[in-house]
Amino acid sequence: MLSQFHINAVYVIAAILFILGLKLLSKPKTARTGNLLSALGMLVAIAITLLSKEIVDWTTIIVCLAIGSVIGVLASRLVALTAMPQMVAVFNGLGGGASMLVAWVALFGSADRFVAVAVILSIVIGGVTFAGSGIAWGKLSAVLASKPLLFLGQRFINAALFVVLIVCAVLFVLEPAPTSYYLYAIIGIALMLGILTVLPIGGADMPVVISLLNSYSGLAACAAGLAIDNVILIVSGALVGAAGIILTNIMCKAMNRSLANVLFSGFGAQKSATKVEGQANPITPEDAYLILEAANSVAFVPGYGMAVAQAQHVVHELGTLLETRGTDVTYAIHPVAGRMPGHMNVLLAEANVSYDQLLEMEDINPKMNAIDVAVVIGANDVVNPAAREDDASPIYGMPIINVDAAKTVFVLKRSLASGFSGVDNPLFFNSNTRMLFGDAKQSISALITEFKD
Ligand code: NDP
Repeated sequence: MLSQFHINAVYVIAAILFILGLKLLSKPKTARTGNLLSALGMLVAIAITLLSKEIVDWTTIIVCLAIGSVIGVLASRLVALTAMPQMVAVFNGLGGGASMLVAWVALFGSADRFVAVAVILSIVIGGVTFAGSGIAWGKLSAVLASKPLLFLGQRFINAALFVVLIVCAVLFVLEPAPTSYYLYAIIGIALMLGILTVLPIGGADMPVVISLLNSYSGLAACAAGLAIDNVILIVSGALVGAAGIILTNIMCKAMNRSLANVLFSGFGAQKSATKVEGQANPITPEDAYLILEAANSVAFVPGYGMAVAQAQHVVHELGTLLETRGTDVTYAIHPVAGRMPGHMNVLLAEANVSYDQLLEMEDINPKMNAIDVAVVIGANDVVNPAAREDDASPIYGMPIINVDAAKTVFVLKRSLASGFSGVDNPLFFNSNTRMLFGDAKQSISALITEFKD
């Protein structure tokens, strides 16, 4: 039997691996190593917990481990990169749900008031995370409409549910029991609050919601750790909670919004952007090539459409072709481009684009009027000038990459359709914009063919 000293010593090693992993995850260059270290930390933590606690028999553990591993491997192999954000939402939700169940189990031992409070915290936060992530999954995978869903008295219902939740929580803590009706009520209300708080958050605000739910899943695990008195669950939960909050803060800054505003305003529901009308100017790859060939500086601005088209490799190939001809090539990254934080960085890193060529929004914007051609590849909301100019627009105030300041703008997309936020984009009708219609990968490949010919 392992002594508590040995168990804690191994937990400290696991915690160090988590912290090192998180540190390395903050830079694209070291992110893979960070991921591996964190996974190793988790393996160490799980192994020592199973060895020390003798929770259930080894046959059950091995069968469950095998089932989980098969699901994990299949998911990582079969889920397309474009569906990663939905998968992250599922992971967050399952994390919350698991913490909820772990905390519940703690009640079957002798539960004092402290344990009861920890259980309630874990069940409430875990339940909100589980149900909220389900709605986020629906919005990201287009099963549900991405626009804010509001109904009359929504805030009143949320407030009333919250009050009932507090009352039930107090009554439960006074007499904790695993089959208490108050506990069932709390679980039900937590799930309802998860649904009702994410439904009114729409379109462009989903990055904040995803990172916040990620943070909640950590906090739920931390509370579950307190409930079952497990140090490593407390530490890992607190780390995920803190990392998620930092990411939430970064996302709020990227959207120029406060967290309270995102959560409670029903952003975009009441506002309707000024109608955008005009004549778009289409361009053929042959004509686009002539303009690109004469350009001294080109900035690629990727968005979600690049991920859909899987165009990152051909974009890099075109960038390299331009560079060999002496053109200055940069890649401008908006923090909420794509469908998950760092989405564009991941794709461009996969295509071996040099990190030195990636410019953040605040670094490229002051230089944009000196850029000859800004090539927008499947980006829409993150380059929509309505966010800057139309105070009636639901995305008004969100900082954008000011591609319209470049001398010429190519927009590569399949139609004039709006982006995730559902807001029309006046950029498409500007006199210096040329629409290169079609799948981004095919359009870029056509340009490469022109260069090679
Ligand atoms: P958008 O969703 O605004 O626009 C993507 C565009 O890509 C669409 O308008 C679509 O136009 C085009 N597209 C789709 N498929 C292709 C294809 N095969 N080839 C070429 N174009 C294609 O993307 P952005 O990256 O500009 O903005 C991200 C949005 O997602 C923001 O609103 C952000 O808030 C939100 N979001 C971001 C998250 C994050 O963490 N980054 C998380 C959740 C939401 P068409 O159909 O005409 O081709």
